[in-house]
Amino acid sequence: MDKLRALFQYLNPIAHLGEKQYSFVVPFYFMVPLSALLEIYAHQIAQDPNSVGMVAIVLYIALIIFFAFRFGIKGGLAAALITIGYYFYVIYSRGYAGAQLWSSINLTLWLGLLYAFLAMTVGWLKQTIDRLLVMEINAKHQLQTIIKNLPVGIKIVDSEGLITMTNDKTSEITGRKIRPGVSIKADGVVLLHPKSKKLMAENEHPAMVANRADKSIFNKEFLVEKPLGELQSVLISAAPLKDKDGINTGAVSIMQDITEIRELEKRKDDFINIASHELKTPVTSLVLFLGILKQTLKKKEIASAEKTVGKIENQLNNLQELIRSLLDVSRIQTGKLVLNKEKTRLDELIAEVITALKHHNGKQKIIFSYKRKAEVMIDKYRIGQVLTNLITNAMKYSEGKGDIIVRLKRNQTNKYEISVKDHGIGIKQDQQKKIFEKLYQVNEDKAGTFPGFGMGLYIAREIITQHRGQIWVDSSLGKGATFYFTLPA
Ligand code: ADP
Repeated sequence: MDKLRALFQYLNPIAHLGEKQYSFVVPFYFMVPLSALLEIYAHQIAQDPNSVGMVAIVLYIALIIFFAFRFGIKGGLAAALITIGYYFYVIYSRGYAGAQLWSSINLTLWLGLLYAFLAMTVGWLKQTIDRLLVMEINAKHQLQTIIKNLPVGIKIVDSEGLITMTNDKTSEITGRKIRPGVSIKADGVVLLHPKSKKLMAENEHPAMVANRADKSIFNKEFLVEKPLGELQSVLISAAPLKDKDGINTGAVSIMQDITEIRELEKRKDDFINIASHELKTPVTSLVLFLGILKQTLKKKEIASAEKTVGKIENQLNNLQELIRSLLDVSRIQTGKLVLNKEKTRLDELIAEVITALKHHNGKQKIIFSYKRKAEVMIDKYRIGQVLTNLITNAMKYSEGKGDIIVRLKRNQTNKYEISVKDHGIGIKQDQQKKIFEKLYQVNEDKAGTFPGFGMGLYIAREIITQHRGQIWVDSSLGKGATFYFTLPA
């Protein structure tokens, strides 16, 4: 039974439209046995060789049309050929002679031409339909691939608001699995107004508005509430869709995740706040110290004046450091951070940096361990800057607690690996990548306690990357941090 169904399925021309399955041979498998059966019927059952004449003509025309529509021009021509062959067999086997023979041959030849024409016309029709269908399927497939891989979420709705197509990015941004067939009003996505945080009304969705008002909507900002309450900033644009007669068939809406852009904007604002604060502090002190200096000079208290000058120098150094960092960030952004590489003894450079820092801030112990001397081609000044940043961070974020251990060794990949370990406040796992981003500082509320811009590690990463090295951190909150970087030997 199943085999019979499979055979019908195989022969069904409609089921195979668009498949470009053309065959010259298949019609033989069916039509030759059929002709034999017909002959058996005529001779054995009807006992009259001429009883199948009319049947044969009608039946074979139907078969030619059928095979042409199932197996293309090839199939149709094969069927026509078998038909003509069968007719000639009939002429031969019935023993026609004389005028009857010639008129039969003449008729059969004319019929042959007609059948070939029929086979080609129907076959061509079938092949044209196939080509058009394949084109349409390809176009649809292309569209689906584009939609699937777009970096934005997309939803296509019909004029009733039912979602007909969507992509994985939509689910990724909204945190909800959205299936075609549900209404856009009830697809589970929670949209809030960005300022008031009020829930967006059902028919306020830009796709619905675009459909209703028959106009495009650009970049409306919303907050998406994910299932666990996390908020994501998105921009939604929508446009009405029309068929070829200009009749509204629904709308398409596009959702773009702008959380990162908003975060960066916030970081920039924070940066301006912190930068102005950081710049103001030394300047205020400078004004104060200059006042004191003026007084002491007036009173000719040279010793005291000298002390104040020392303090002024310190503040100016701080200021210079901040301005240098700002300049470095701007150099990195414009691609103008140029390295001056020279042969350098890395072990000596590290020792120098540590000595300078000890001199500057003698309280905390810095231990340096290394086995062999290490020679590298580096920009000495820039690598010194990275080391200074990592060690001052280690001091800053351990607030004098525990020793700072600096190690230099050659790792398995034959690169020099430098590590700076502290026993301070540590860094949470999810922030360990972000601290190397521009202007990133871990805790806003710590901004006061730990002065800084969040520029140091960003600059360090850039310098190390330009040296074809890597920089990373290993830490957990409260358990100190170890920063590593590598340099090619
Ligand atoms: P800054 O120290 O000026 O804020 P950095 O770019 O040097 O900027 O550091 C970025 C952030 O990384 C710091 O704000 C701090 O939160 C964190 N951080 C850096 N080094 C350490 C460390 N050794 N221990 C704990 N946190 C650190």
